[in-house]
Amino acid sequence: MLHIVLHFAVPAIVALKFFSQRWQVAYLVMMATMLVDLDHLFADPIYDASRCSIGFHPLHQPWFIALYLVLCFFPKTRLIGLGLMIHMLLDSLDCQVTNGIWIN
Ligand SMILES: [Zn+2]
Repeated sequence: MLHIVLHFAVPAIVALKFFSQRWQVAYLVMMATMLVDLDHLFADPIYDASRCSIGFHPLHQPWFIALYLVLCFFPKTRLIGLGLMIHMLLDSLDCQVTNGIWIN
């Protein structure tokens, strides 16, 4: 449950702290990156609280995460990259808490 709360709270904090002039837009874009979890639809079961999503789901693969990191360096894609990196970091943290691993 805390994991899901963090998915909403951390982008909000980042938006307010670093994009205070346009935090609403920043927050919306970062929230939209949660669509990355649509890749869970390919898994069976779709949701499993004890499964580590990093390295398991198609859009949670390490080379995709490297791409998300690159997006952070370009102004036009920065918010998308940031939203995705926050998402992956929180997912990885969840893996550590529930399974004792950072990646599958
Ligand atoms: Zn995820």
